[in-house]
Amino acid sequence: MNNAVIQFPLPQNEPVKAYLEGSPERKALEAELERQYNTVLDIPLIIGGKEIRTGDTATVVCPHEHGHVLATYHRAGEKEIRMAIDAAMQARKQWSETPWTTRAAIVLKCAELLATKYRPILNAACMLGQSKNIYQAEIDSACETIDFFRYNVHYASKIYAMQPKDGAGNLNHTEFRPLEGFVLAVTPFNFTSIASNLCMTPVLMGNVAVWKPSSTATLSNYYLMKLYKEAGLPDGVINFLPGSGALIGKVATESKWFAGIHFTGSTGTFGSLWKLAVENLDRYVSYPRLVGETGGKDFIFVHPSAQVKPVATAAFCGAFEFQGQKCSAASRMYVPKSLWPAVLEQMKQFASEVKTGSVMDPSNYINAVIDEASWNKIDGYLTCAEQSPDARIVLGGGRDKSVGYFVEPTVIETTDPHFKTMEEEIFGPVLTVYPYDDDKVDEAVRLCDTTSPYGLTGAVFGQDRMAVERITGQLRYAAGNFYINDKPTGAVVGMQPFGGARASGTNDKAGGEFNLIRWVIPRVIKETLVSPEDYRYSYMK
Ligand code: NAD
Repeated sequence: MNNAVIQFPLPQNEPVKAYLEGSPERKALEAELERQYNTVLDIPLIIGGKEIRTGDTATVVCPHEHGHVLATYHRAGEKEIRMAIDAAMQARKQWSETPWTTRAAIVLKCAELLATKYRPILNAACMLGQSKNIYQAEIDSACETIDFFRYNVHYASKIYAMQPKDGAGNLNHTEFRPLEGFVLAVTPFNFTSIASNLCMTPVLMGNVAVWKPSSTATLSNYYLMKLYKEAGLPDGVINFLPGSGALIGKVATESKWFAGIHFTGSTGTFGSLWKLAVENLDRYVSYPRLVGETGGKDFIFVHPSAQVKPVATAAFCGAFEFQGQKCSAASRMYVPKSLWPAVLEQMKQFASEVKTGSVMDPSNYINAVIDEASWNKIDGYLTCAEQSPDARIVLGGGRDKSVGYFVEPTVIETTDPHFKTMEEEIFGPVLTVYPYDDDKVDEAVRLCDTTSPYGLTGAVFGQDRMAVERITGQLRYAAGNFYINDKPTGAVVGMQPFGGARASGTNDKAGGEFNLIRWVIPRVIKETLVSPEDYRYSYMK
């Protein structure tokens, strides 16, 4: 048995590759794009390491070219969900007793494999299946995923090192046991890194998982399973179950071994899973850990002392990168009337320079939104703006779903701070702006704080540092990740642990030790070196 005390120091963040034309990484990516584009995969369920094909299939298509099929995948039925729970529970004994440094070594091998051999594979799958351009794929399915692996190992080492002190004649220590059951990981389409992290964080801490991937991210998520296998993750530790979320959620939460859920997705879905857990509470061996990061209505608040170009840049990138489908994407902005015309002019300038289209053409800055349901939802909001006397579309507004699910970067200007698109999450490239009177800053800040139920990300812009300080205080509960003079997107693992409160989630901060601690149940062990043999207090002797 290896008895070394192994250190896992704070890692460096994975550098973002440039993908310049002719560079080795660009050539490798292009070859892989070509391969995946011209292959139709048959994606099975993976239960206990075995590939299972149910015959109940659906297809994965390119969102930017929805006539092009990338894969068919098999959907889990009730029987397979129960099989997955059994397989997880069978794998649990060995995995939970595996030395944590061995688990860490497997996770670090995932990072190394992804930084090298799997980098083009995951990036190409993310580009084709989730319609991210090269840069957006690189920062997600390569860099952030790698960072989660490496940082979590470091944070785990800090948790295991948190030990109580010894007393007179006794030794004390804390054993950080994994949860007594399995963790249900339910993951979103928009970040491959989150899909990976929601499984691998509990797994690193010794847990086993039943994984429900998002249907529209099945391709990249399937390649993650291949990566884990190659890195040495034992069969059954993660069980891959594409299929109906509602069915998987229902069956999984009925099991007595349901020990927790690690979720990222919309507020409504998390709420329904939470209710299922409450309904089934009496069945469980332990109180389940419910960890969820959910929706947002992320804001930019502009103080009259702000500079125009940084605001316009933050609004443009924050609202439109990856078609506004980041949970942190700016979707409402409060701007003083004195600055708004210049900010809008600058945003129009940027918009005139960018192209929208397929990820296969790297000059396209904007690609497609994820699927038809999403496109229809965005279309509904834009139609509402077009028809309302309280709003007008001042930039973009065009949309077309004939070939791919495309929506132009769009800005809605409104005179109503409670206009529908100021309050509800749209999850598309749509920014609604409420220009406010310059002398009513406090009133506008109050609106910003109270307008939506969410509390995920937000940004304040201003050169008057004292005013910025005041607004930061006034918006204390409006965002779990708050930015000063920067866009509200782009949190980096190890630098800005991510998550929001209010209707945006349990704020357990992915990419930090707060999250890892949710996946252990500590046992404290006191050992008395020489046991007493007299019951009397000193003064009774
Ligand atoms: P979604 O809620 O539609 O789906 C998330 C997952 O839940 C998917 O795997 C889906 O299949 C599954 N699911 C759907 N209905 C279910 C049900 N009834 N029971 C169980 N599972 C079910 O979300 P999405 O469209 O994939 O992702 C977008 C949402 O995720 C947005 O609201 C966004 O703000 C949020 N998000 C939040 C964060 C964050 O950190 N707060 C990060 C990324 C995404």
